[in-house]
Amino acid sequence: MKSTSARRAAGAASYRLRGDRPPEPGTRWRNWAGTATATPARWCRPRTEYEICAAVTAAAAAGLQLRVLGSGHSFTAAAATTGVALDLSLWTGITAADTRTCLVTVRSGTTIRALNAELAGLGLAMANLGDIDAQTLAGALSTGTHGTGAGLGGLATQVEGLELVLADGSLVTCSAAARPELFAAARISLGALGVITAVTLRCVPAFTLAADERPLPVAEVLEQFDALAAANDHFEFYWFPYGRQALVKRNNRVSPGGDAAAAAPGAMPAWRKFWEFEVMENAAFGALCRAGRARPALIPALNRLSSAALSARSYSAASHRVFVTPRRVRFVESEYAVPRESLRQVLTELSREVPRLAEPVMFPVEVRVAAADDIWLSTAYGRDSAYIAIHQYTGLPYQAYFALFESIVAHVAGRPHWGKMHSLDAERLRALYPRFDEFRRIRAEADPESRFGNSYLGRIFGPPGEK
Ligand SMILES: Cc1cc2nc3c(=O)[nH]c(=O)nc-3n(C[C@H](O)[C@H](O)[C@H](O)COP(=O)(O)OP(=O)(O)OC[C@H]3O[C@@H](n4cnc5c(N)ncnc54)[C@H](O)[C@@H]3O)c2cc1C
Repeated sequence: MKSTSARRAAGAASYRLRGDRPPEPGTRWRNWAGTATATPARWCRPRTEYEICAAVTAAAAAGLQLRVLGSGHSFTAAAATTGVALDLSLWTGITAADTRTCLVTVRSGTTIRALNAELAGLGLAMANLGDIDAQTLAGALSTGTHGTGAGLGGLATQVEGLELVLADGSLVTCSAAARPELFAAARISLGALGVITAVTLRCVPAFTLAADERPLPVAEVLEQFDALAAANDHFEFYWFPYGRQALVKRNNRVSPGGDAAAAAPGAMPAWRKFWEFEVMENAAFGALCRAGRARPALIPALNRLSSAALSARSYSAASHRVFVTPRRVRFVESEYAVPRESLRQVLTELSREVPRLAEPVMFPVEVRVAAADDIWLSTAYGRDSAYIAIHQYTGLPYQAYFALFESIVAHVAGRPHWGKMHSLDAERLRALYPRFDEFRRIRAEADPESRFGNSYLGRIFGPPGEK
């Protein structure tokens, strides 16, 4: 058996390699959660658009499939390939910005962390973000990454235009005005239509968020769910499946000047930030998780302990610093979007069934909201949605829990997050997405030979080239 340090070293060697030169052939790729691995036949780390186009045509000439690697933060094998692994970590940065219109064009390999920093320097920000910032922009868009906000969509709704390299090596642009069908399909497309090289985002002027986090009885949160979602710019809650308390997070914009700004809580001192985010949410929670993994029978009690330790806090900071939190404790995750009105039914069934599972659950459930949008493969396509994310600590059994969750959300037409664990195939997904066959038609036209395919895409979209 390998020691922990040997395992860490192996993980580091096979995880995302950065630096100027691509890894040697035979280097293994592994995602953040350790749920997907692959050994690409060839690695490629282009620096220019020309090199990206050349990588696609060279893959075709060699008869290899090609996948773009993001930061490996999908729990599914979305990015995995045994063909060419295209690493865009040298293809980064903002290339154009108009601070009057707030339109910003970004190279696709830029991480959200780097993007947030560059935007802040320009006095701009993304209107909404998810929980972390380690993803690449194109990777996050391609799986439908979202944050929370009843009046806001996922990240892809902030896209105004895309540049893509298609399977024949040609570079095309698309937007609502140019190639609108490709645009409707490509904003969330899992790399199935081509390599996204640049993204034009509609940003907003930089803003401050006032964060308020406090425990409330979960029954009360469900009772007031619609009102809480409507009254707050960004509303979400966490709930430990064996507890009665939820941790409710409300983030609201602070308009500069005026009474609201004066009443907003102050910034959190650095020592408290370290204590709350690093010690309590990562180090202490990680220690509880390890104790639970060593003695699973203790998990319900540890869950109640975590629930009881929830405390209130309020602070203000630049929006991206409030949206994003460090996540150092590793876990596996599944997330489904359900019609907002079905949330209570799903959580009621989960709270009834989870205590009956043979293997206890160590991690909380996270609930978020998003507005309906018109992106063909968006989990919020055509309906106001509630997102329910379930997690399990890495190394603990999760299969029965995730299967139970899938069986519950199936009754309310739940749609799985494309980057998180699920078992649906093309037949089941077609029934959930009204524009599914149109997406497949665009894919068959853009990539008739499945140059950008892999086994995950084979499962979710069915046989390649079929319109
Ligand atoms: C700790 C953690 C927290 C998370 N929090 C959230 C959250 O708050 N909200 C949420 O919705 N999701 C969340 N996720 C999921 C995550 O945002 C998505 O899985 C996202 O796709 C990961 O981005 P990535 O850069 O790692 O892409 P990868 O996982 O590496 O790739 C994702 C897909 O994008 C494709 N791709 C990447 N770049 C390109 C490109 N240039 N052109 C074409 N295709 C491309 C890949 O081929 C692959 O199919 C979280 C995941 C983790 C591990």
